[in-house]
Amino acid sequence: MTKYIFVTGGVISGIGKGITTASLGRLLINRGFKVNVVKIDPYLNVDAGVMNPFQHGEVFVTHDGAETDLDVGNYERFLGVDLNQQSNFTTGSVYYEVIQKERRGDYLGQTVQLIPHITDEIKRRIYQIGKDNHVDIVITEIGGTIGDFEMPPYVEAIRQIAMEVGRENTLFLHVSLIYTLPNGESKSKPTQHSIRKLQEFGIQPDLLLCRTSQHLEDSIRRKISLLCGISEDFIIEGLDTDCVDEIPLNFEEQGMGHLVAKKLGLERRATLDAEWVAMVDKLKNPKYQTTIAIVGKYTTGSDAYISVKEAIKHGGIANEASVKIDWIEAEEVTELTNLDKLFENIDGILVPGGFGDRGIEGMLTTVKYARENNIPYFGLCLGMQCLVIEYARNVANLENANSTEVDENTQYPVIDLMLDQRSIADLGATMRLGHYPCVLKENTKSYEAFQQPIIIERHRHRYELNNDFRTELENAGLCFSGVSPDESLVEIAEVPDHPWMVGSQFHPEFQSKPLAPHPLFKDFISAVLTYQKQRMNIGDDDE
Ligand code: GLN
Repeated sequence: MTKYIFVTGGVISGIGKGITTASLGRLLINRGFKVNVVKIDPYLNVDAGVMNPFQHGEVFVTHDGAETDLDVGNYERFLGVDLNQQSNFTTGSVYYEVIQKERRGDYLGQTVQLIPHITDEIKRRIYQIGKDNHVDIVITEIGGTIGDFEMPPYVEAIRQIAMEVGRENTLFLHVSLIYTLPNGESKSKPTQHSIRKLQEFGIQPDLLLCRTSQHLEDSIRRKISLLCGISEDFIIEGLDTDCVDEIPLNFEEQGMGHLVAKKLGLERRATLDAEWVAMVDKLKNPKYQTTIAIVGKYTTGSDAYISVKEAIKHGGIANEASVKIDWIEAEEVTELTNLDKLFENIDGILVPGGFGDRGIEGMLTTVKYARENNIPYFGLCLGMQCLVIEYARNVANLENANSTEVDENTQYPVIDLMLDQRSIADLGATMRLGHYPCVLKENTKSYEAFQQPIIIERHRHRYELNNDFRTELENAGLCFSGVSPDESLVEIAEVPDHPWMVGSQFHPEFQSKPLAPHPLFKDFISAVLTYQKQRMNIGDDDE
């Protein structure tokens, strides 16, 4: 019998429902239960693929090529599992499917309505996850805040699920904000109102997670318990923290895993979280400190690169280092910039993914600086394409070489639109998406990192290295250390006579997990630490 947990949010958005959901998943996995998670986004976009990263944060890509909300990345990292196309859906996609069925005549002339047709489609998708994955528990997180206009169909659907599978097999977790006034006084009223809103829909939350900037006072706990009908021990404190990875441990300390298992009638099991505890310990007690620069397009909203940020942290854990990130707007790097000053205390440079032409020249100036000054460089997707363009221009003497994404009329289009992309008009879900294999060349930085001849990585791009320039670039010294098995597509480019300069067409950040740091991030940070030692002229006393 599959159990169902539903996570809703109260008062304001952005209070960490995703991390709470992921942390609860971790606690249940630590007890040996099989868990799957789905994120529902109540907006009308069919998926996150064409949404602006400034507004909505990163688009996370699953192995099977779904372009999802960034919370799916949090789930994968905390749960240590690979999710898929089913793991994120939107109101847009639900209506799209129902309307298509209506056009096909599947409803046999019935009047198609919000209830039951839209709610049935929502329920079908949630049930399907339980069925397809044979899991003990499906956790469903509903994006947005109770009281939003888009919310009622979802709240109604989960109320119906609770009725269908039995209330004893359902748990409602509400994540809400306890507001602290400037004088330090905590206020629970907004939370009480959000719970009342849930109750109007026929849902009584079982567990309340109070997000708060200071410890939860007993009086607040008592008040909420009395007025909202939640027993005091089912009210958990979610104190602000800089270390999200520590959150599952904080929850466990408060008995959350046990409470949830008890409420759902799951057997009581010991928790095996030693690995997670050891990881958090390493994270909080680093031996080394270093700083790298990320030079990209969406750096002011760093949620746009959340997986990159996390993967760098994982690379740090693997090297016992804490890695600080300096975010630099690519557009602000110009020929006039004093690069020595800008990168004065920087031990590594990363150029992440991006679309369009804004900021490209700044990225190319940065790449040149990294190459000429032997600073470890890691290019992700667009960052790999920049590595190739810079090499073409300044080493292979292909003057003004470019990507046709930036300059359609360039004389040397070293990066060009993939052949099968040329006839595509729609923007949504039409890129080269998801996992593809890549064959590695021995005696390269890439092979050294992976220690195996074939890897599988996730992609999200339309442009690729133009094979017309492959030999010319190779003759100029660039090494294509990873290619598709049929050799038609370059997946990794590296500069051999440089301490560590690697660019991947794929996005390694999507596969990195705290308990399994990605090999390229691990080696990048290792190169960064080596460079730092040389820069600071410190001998390695330990060895
Ligand atoms: N814009 C480039 C492309 O489509 C790079 C994409 C990316 O960085 N994800 O190929």
